[in-house]
Amino acid sequence: MERRFFPMQTFYVKTKVCSGDGAMDILGNFASRNAVIFTDAFMVKSGVAARVADKLSNCADVRIFDEIKPDPPIELVANGLQFLLDANADLVVALGGGSSIDAAKATILMAKRSGAKDNISLIAIPTTSGTGSEVTSFAVITDREKGVKYPLVDEALLPDYAIMDPSLVVSAPPRITADTGFDVITHALEAYVSVGANDYSDALAEKALELAFQYLPKAYANGQDLEAREKMHTASCLAGMAFNAVSLGINHGIAHQLGARFHIPHGRANAMLLPHVVRFNANLDANFGAKQETTASLRYAHIARRIGLSGDDTNALVLALIRHMFYMLKMTETPATLKDAGVTKEAYESVKAAMIDAALKDACTATNPRPVTHDDVAAILAGLAKW
Ligand code: NAD
Repeated sequence: MERRFFPMQTFYVKTKVCSGDGAMDILGNFASRNAVIFTDAFMVKSGVAARVADKLSNCADVRIFDEIKPDPPIELVANGLQFLLDANADLVVALGGGSSIDAAKATILMAKRSGAKDNISLIAIPTTSGTGSEVTSFAVITDREKGVKYPLVDEALLPDYAIMDPSLVVSAPPRITADTGFDVITHALEAYVSVGANDYSDALAEKALELAFQYLPKAYANGQDLEAREKMHTASCLAGMAFNAVSLGINHGIAHQLGARFHIPHGRANAMLLPHVVRFNANLDANFGAKQETTASLRYAHIARRIGLSGDDTNALVLALIRHMFYMLKMTETPATLKDAGVTKEAYESVKAAMIDAALKDACTATNPRPVTHDDVAAILAGLAKW
């Protein structure tokens, strides 16, 4: 039999993932450490930061840095570094959504790269089911002045531990549940069709998609549904592992621009783009008519079947998947156009060309299953640009 050759790939998960009752108790294992909790004002107000601080009672010192804002800017990371050095911290606990976790990761990287401090352990405790940042070597930082989001990619960004406690997500309102849930679906689907996709990442992505398509509607409808919250938390972590191994695609490349320019929450930007990116990758025309099948079409069709959709052939299955995505956007009252997301035509037109250039240069775009040109990105954006 002919032997097939592939470029060498490695797959590993460095982060120890702790879940189930008592997962938070591992915080008691860090005796005599100087700990800093990176979090935001909501987690302090809701008392969750204090609960985490209590669990760190064996540490020598515990301080809380509660300045995290969504889409953490570079200046925040600089403030975080000063806080970390003042505390002489050797343990950081990142508590919150992707913004808190990314800010903590970027701060630790800055401490290491500048030579200011090495050997800082990181424990990530996600309170949204979305980014998967607790298991990824990515951190997304925003340059507000330039209107650009930078995905940092470095193995040193991988947390040492992730504590997966779905009860912490119960307080997330439906809007945040939907936005972050679509982030999970986008991570898993982009990983599944990435040019680097392999059997290891496929296993993670397929399971993440199965769980997310089944449980996101339930978590959205009833935030107190702990089973739905747990499954979405697991899906988020699995999707994070998948894309950490094989990266993402043009959906994220463009979403980073929409987030940086118009402050559309990350998951919502991904959600709005997803049906249009699937259309492009599957080589359907602007009216969703079928042309030549692509490798990505076959993969989308497989996922459509796996989540219970039907269709007579590959293109019919891809179309069923796209229709299902539009249905989920509608069901969760997620905007489908830039207008509905609060962006004016003038604001969009004034930065469109710069956004397209930046999307093509974004680190995530390199692994998209179809090569992407300036005109392709313009065509994907045109699906949202309706006033
Ligand atoms: P977020 O962290 O920005 O939080 C959004 C809002 O939700 C905040 O106001 C926060 O206070 C609130 N919130 C968080 N948990 C809550 C809870 N349990 N109850 C009530 N409110 C809660 O949102 P996110 O979507 O988790 O993270 C988005 C950021 O992560 C973006 O900057 C994005 O670019 C980045 N990101 C990183 C990765 C990665 O691998 N590092 C992957 C995808 C996205």
